[in-house]
Amino acid sequence: MKSPFDLNQQNTKIESKIVVALERISEAFRVLLWSESKENSLSPIQIQILIFLLFHSEEKCKVSYLAEEFNMTKATVSDSIRVLLKKELVQKFHNPNDTRSYIIGLTEQGKQIAQKSANFTFNIEKPLSSLPEDQKKDILTGLLKVIYQLNKAGVITIQRMCYTCSYYQHENNEHFCNLLQSKLASKELRIDCPEHEFKS
Ligand code: SF4
Repeated sequence: MKSPFDLNQQNTKIESKIVVALERISEAFRVLLWSESKENSLSPIQIQILIFLLFHSEEKCKVSYLAEEFNMTKATVSDSIRVLLKKELVQKFHNPNDTRSYIIGLTEQGKQIAQKSANFTFNIEKPLSSLPEDQKKDILTGLLKVIYQLNKAGVITIQRMCYTCSYYQHENNEHFCNLLQSKLASKELRIDCPEHEFKS
């Protein structure tokens, strides 16, 4: 198979162009996240952890979960947590359900940085908001399918999306959530659902 970065291949195959376009967008994420990190004298993963802690429930705010979420080793995540503890941006709480692990929560200062940093993607969201609704729906549908396949292939771990949820049903070309007891239009499919339950 030829590389999508081979220009002869790229210019004759739409999949290659999409892969390279996604790579450009991931570069934008990297640049924006890096600039946010520098501003706060933190590393990119430390900023990502703060943002994650801000928006997710307690049972997900543990070293083991964060390691899976960010596709990193527990040791790497623990190192970042150690720095965040030292800077008093996070605090540890006892886990009542498991004495061997602890829950990580934001301090007031950590919350402020997380709230501000959570908007680092503004420059990516802005051009998307000017697209017609149908194009946005098509982009979301395509991306959800790609993410699902990457998850199935083991390239990326935890995904809290409808396609991997035990409440999700797909019948007669319609999406249905058995928890919400409601049909889901394509644009209502979730990528990070707080009620997500992994299929067993
Ligand atoms: S619970 Fe959430 S992730 Fe699961 S099917 Fe319903 S909306 Fe989708």
